[in-house]
Amino acid sequence: MDINSLYSELIMEHSVNSPYKKELSHPSCSSLGHNPNCGDEIKLEATIENGIIQDMAFFGHGCAISQSSTSIMIDLLKGKTTQEAKEIIEIFISMIKREKLTSEQKKRLKNALAFENVSNMPSRAKCATLSWHTLENLLNSLQ
Ligand SMILES: [Zn+2]
Repeated sequence: MDINSLYSELIMEHSVNSPYKKELSHPSCSSLGHNPNCGDEIKLEATIENGIIQDMAFFGHGCAISQSSTSIMIDLLKGKTTQEAKEIIEIFISMIKREKLTSEQKKRLKNALAFENVSNMPSRAKCATLSWHTLENLLNSLQ
């Protein structure tokens, strides 16, 4: 099995069966994201304490790319400081814009590298970045 089919499976798995698609009992903040081009809608909830993303979850609907990108983002950024999260968001958005990443940057994206091929499909780019921009807005609103 090549790396691309592994990535496709990962995207499908997270879109169909995300462990993060739920409501948090006591979120400290939340943010809505909407991609009218595709009809994707998500609500991100997070518990942020002492500058660390202690917990994060989402609900919403939309295409497989938008839903799985949200789930994989949460998997990657939960437990990170807000500063680290912002840096990783920036790297992900650069990747989707087809900017060249260093191997160090790629390492930080881990499973989110699964979306690298989405950068070849401009119509899906907004699906992939929806949750990342939504979290970026949320983090910026905290300051
Ligand atoms: Zn979409």
